[in-house]
Amino acid sequence: MRLSQFHLRTEKETPAEAEIASHKLMLKAGMVRRLAAGLYTWSPLGLRVLRKVEAVVREEMDAAGAIEMAMPSVQPRELWEETGRWQKFGPQLLKIRDRKEQEYCFTPTAEEAVTDFFRHECASYRQLPVNFYQVTTKFRDEIRPRFGVMRAREFVMKDAYSFHVSDEDLIQRGYNVMYAAYERIFTRLGLAFRAVAADTGAIGGSASHEFHVLAESGEDALAFSQSSAYAANVELAEAVSPGERAAPAETLREVATPVQKTCEDVAALLGIPLARTVKSVAAMGADGFVLALVRGDHVVNEIKLSKLPGMAEYRLATEAEIVEHLGCEPGFLGPRGPRRPIRVVADRSVAAMADFVVGANAPGAHLAGVNWGRDLPEPDVVADIRNVVAGDPSPDGQGVLGLARGIEVGHVFALGRRYSEAMGCTVLDEHGKAVHPAMGCYGIGVSRIVAAAIEQNHDESGIRWPEAMAPWRAVVCVINPKGNAEVAAAAEALYRELAEAGVDTALDDRGLRPGSMFADIELIGIPHRIVVSERGLAAGTFEYRARTAAEAEQLDRATLLERLS
Ligand code: ATP
Ligand code: MG
Ligand code: MG
Ligand code: MG
Repeated sequence: MRLSQFHLRTEKETPAEAEIASHKLMLKAGMVRRLAAGLYTWSPLGLRVLRKVEAVVREEMDAAGAIEMAMPSVQPRELWEETGRWQKFGPQLLKIRDRKEQEYCFTPTAEEAVTDFFRHECASYRQLPVNFYQVTTKFRDEIRPRFGVMRAREFVMKDAYSFHVSDEDLIQRGYNVMYAAYERIFTRLGLAFRAVAADTGAIGGSASHEFHVLAESGEDALAFSQSSAYAANVELAEAVSPGERAAPAETLREVATPVQKTCEDVAALLGIPLARTVKSVAAMGADGFVLALVRGDHVVNEIKLSKLPGMAEYRLATEAEIVEHLGCEPGFLGPRGPRRPIRVVADRSVAAMADFVVGANAPGAHLAGVNWGRDLPEPDVVADIRNVVAGDPSPDGQGVLGLARGIEVGHVFALGRRYSEAMGCTVLDEHGKAVHPAMGCYGIGVSRIVAAAIEQNHDESGIRWPEAMAPWRAVVCVINPKGNAEVAAAAEALYRELAEAGVDTALDDRGLRPGSMFADIELIGIPHRIVVSERGLAAGTFEYRARTAAEAEQLDRATLLERLS
């Protein structure tokens, strides 16, 4: 690519509206331009990077046996009614009408559409397992779009869906295969990442993992044991607002009524130890109940609340039972493994007096009847609970927890039969019996990865792309191309030679002054810069500098080619 014929438009000033490094640098480098809240135009430069990420994702998905397809962005209400998600998905689902007053949504994810495709295409166990994927634009009407493409409303997601005859097959030939593919994808992209249980690990953690790029600016808090493999998303945002699907944080405050019990009172009533730290908050109605996820003697994970009539005693319940009682999407309970028993602690007398429930994800308790202001600082609960777990004992009993911040770039999830059952999707098993296939779903935030990579790779001059994501791996800079034909010709020859050697190279023949040209190249983060100048030509060398190196070196042609190929 000749940059004189490309569209590059960088900015000197740091844009005031951007808070984090990736957003600032993407705007400064001219990779994206904001069209409206959460909506971004990808410039030719930005698109090159996005396509590089997509290419790695596609290669590894194909290598893992997944098959690419594409589903519509606009999907009919009827389809989403089949699973109840037309309502349950909540305000993130953008609903639209056509000229005939038919209702549609702009797809935020495609479980319904792929299950519909599958039920028409596949009839026999012999066709399983199968894994369909697509790389398409998704829309979520995020409550707080921010950080540019990091949390956009329209974004590019790779989503894959696998279908299996048994739970074992789902884990072995679906989930685990995707997990391994994700490790390869993020490794190839040159990112420092970590897979964590999406569920704080208490229940069914093995059936849902998120992949996080580690970065200070990450919206998620990750807790990991210093002495074992335990790693989990603390899911603070979820805990404060139990799914934007269910009740936004604002409503939590609205339902507050005067409190009659203290934390200690409720702990005594439930017969559980008082939490040392307060880590999650959920809303509760007057005749709600307390749902505790229990491991051993400890309530280790979020208490979830809803109206579960007729439950007045402690008893064991399955996740499916609870979901049915709640009439909610299972995701509302947090991602969990199929059919793992969880203990429901139901006590109307406690529930009736509780306004809020708080609790700890580390060993400790979740407590009802908490008074804002007295038991919790009023202004910013998220900030308050973000700092509490480091040093707490790890829930697996091994060592203490450390904390890191992460950006969720991928998610693997063993869904089970929730969608195939709801949508009447069956295949014939080897005995000729109709069975609902078990499903897995696997997402990657392709456009978010671009921003996440910058969070990890930048300096005061700009972006430092990992090789696999760079818009070009190398750039040949020509000093004064119009003024010196010999220099221009040598640069042109080197540019061709690099291209022939398979190095994705740009030729900076824009004729800018060296200072401006180099500033641009550093800002847009090209990993290898070669300068062709009159002085170098006379000495038979090129000036070479890696984006990550402090100093430039003078290299002859052969050494240079060897370095780059
Ligand atoms: P988050 O917790 O950040 O809201 P999510 O858990 O809602 O993400 P998933 O439903 O797991 O997202 O979707 C798969 C992937 O899509 C996520 O892992 C993330 O990388 C990406 N993604 C989700 N929401 C957005 C968004 N608003 N902007 C950009 N990427 C997103
Ligand atoms: Mg989300
Ligand atoms: Mg998430
Ligand atoms: Mg997720």
